[in-house]
Amino acid sequence: MDEQVSIRGGNTTNGKGIEGESGGRVTVPDSISPLRQLFPILNQTVRGVPLAYFDNAATTQKPVGVIEAVKRYYERDNSNVHRAAHDLAGRATLGFESARTKVAQFINARSDREIVFTRGTTESLNLIAYSYGALAVGAGDDILLTELEHHSNIVPWQLLAQRTGAKVVAAPLSDKGDIIIDQFRERLTARTKIVSFTHVSNALGTMNPVAELVSLVRRYAPQAIIVIDGAQWVAHGPTDVQALDVDFYCFSAHKLFGPTGVGVLWGKYELLERMPPFLGGGDMIDRVSFRETTFAKPPSRFEAGTPHIAGVIGLGAALDFLGLAPWPEVAAHEKAIGEQVLEGLRGVDGVRLIGAPAQRISVASFRVDGVAPIDVAVMVNNNGVALRAGHHCCMPLMERLGVSGTVRASWCLYTSQSDVESLIAAVRSTTQRRSIKRLAKVEERAVIPGAERSAPSVAAAAAALIGEFDGCPDAAMKQELLFEWGQSHRNLLERLKECTTPVPGCMSEVRVLLRRTPDGELTMASDANAGIVRGLLTVIERLVSGQQIAELREFNIRAFLVRIGIDQFLSMQRRNGLEGVLQMIEAEVGAFEGVGR
Ligand code: PLP
Repeated sequence: MDEQVSIRGGNTTNGKGIEGESGGRVTVPDSISPLRQLFPILNQTVRGVPLAYFDNAATTQKPVGVIEAVKRYYERDNSNVHRAAHDLAGRATLGFESARTKVAQFINARSDREIVFTRGTTESLNLIAYSYGALAVGAGDDILLTELEHHSNIVPWQLLAQRTGAKVVAAPLSDKGDIIIDQFRERLTARTKIVSFTHVSNALGTMNPVAELVSLVRRYAPQAIIVIDGAQWVAHGPTDVQALDVDFYCFSAHKLFGPTGVGVLWGKYELLERMPPFLGGGDMIDRVSFRETTFAKPPSRFEAGTPHIAGVIGLGAALDFLGLAPWPEVAAHEKAIGEQVLEGLRGVDGVRLIGAPAQRISVASFRVDGVAPIDVAVMVNNNGVALRAGHHCCMPLMERLGVSGTVRASWCLYTSQSDVESLIAAVRSTTQRRSIKRLAKVEERAVIPGAERSAPSVAAAAAALIGEFDGCPDAAMKQELLFEWGQSHRNLLERLKECTTPVPGCMSEVRVLLRRTPDGELTMASDANAGIVRGLLTVIERLVSGQQIAELREFNIRAFLVRIGIDQFLSMQRRNGLEGVLQMIEAEVGAFEGVGR
């Protein structure tokens, strides 16, 4: 590779300077690319094209070392930890506890005792909110968050606020997606008991100036504890919890090349020691009697029940893998990839980048004019490109930015230049769909008419649709057919918004108006803000609109959808969204008792 990239100096989280201390240009060494070979999953084709995986902020792939460690554990050592006297339990305990030591070293904790294993960042944050919250938060107190936060770093605090009468306060963002420092400072008061913010935003890639924010908290709200959501940082640079000078730090193994279902809560021991248990059960006790139970010291106090032993051992192996990747080289590689992604996206006509943070880590959010984010993600998947679209569990942030969602490309140490080329080419191809007539004038008639009957009976309508889908040789063509139908679907969204509520459970905005005619027919008018969903609504309208309710009552729509192969060309989430539409139809015609779902 050996390419020249521009590296900005200065602002790092822990003073170690992963971005190049000199502020000059550094040479990217070629020691990172070979690591990609350690990820077998990346070496596959999707829809006949090499996979380009850009969904790393959702979860990273696993190197062979992690896969082998989990396999070895189940093949050789599987046993419960901490309790038994036999060799297998000894080996399992050793593997589990040595992973704790590795985690402690990885984040420079003072001691292994400060490492609590959880199910993930979400559980770590809930644990703090529940346990520290019970200890230190009461009515009239403030919990300061920021508008950047993932729902995992909002909802547990809201629940705490509900329980205690405390208030959740959010520090605002600039239009670029950076915390406005002055406004953050203004919200630090004598009432502030907890300050919790993300190290890196999963939706925009904003890297927060942790050191600056921490020093403000220590100065203006010294009574407050500081919690960092490190989910999106740990795979991209060194973490030093002592240098950060925070109180709690949370992350998930699966975003760090380790297994899902395992996370870490690091906390200062003196705080953990004072905190009450979160969950009760085995392993977290000292003595139990019906009179009284006393609790174990941390970390056991917070690890009730049998843990995810294989997952923790896998996390240990992920940290061993990271030992092969010097952080400055990872940073330089990711920076180079990031510049190619941003430059490539800027070069595509119709693409608008969302957010321009002062310091960005491994995420680019964007929109394509005239194409819903989910449609972009579905379309690029046909070119082997894995992206994410939606609100990224950051609804308040989306509201702040004035968008319903974005398309998100996220990269990491194994992302290659050829991945970036695939990404940009695939995104460029989606812009050709901008001719979608979504902006066409809304129909002016006072009453929104249901779609015309497509065939003399439901059975005949179903047969016609089945014929059309069967005429498509593969799943990609079926999907293409849906997109085409989506383009010619009636534009009714604005009018339907005036007289309907959104269909629950759908990722996109979906509106459906069902009516019964005096002749016993059902009519359906519907629309959505995503092309593929509009195509699907065309299918449903063609099937049910104008048909006799008595006939519909006997017809199994779910079986029909399976028959046309819906599971091959529509993601599970989309199908779950469709469920809301089906339930509305069922309610209107009188539920189909006993029809299998
Ligand atoms: N915080 C951030 C910033 C995230 O990106 C995520 C996951 O996407 C989480 C928290 C929640 O992580 P998990 O689902 O692993 O608990």
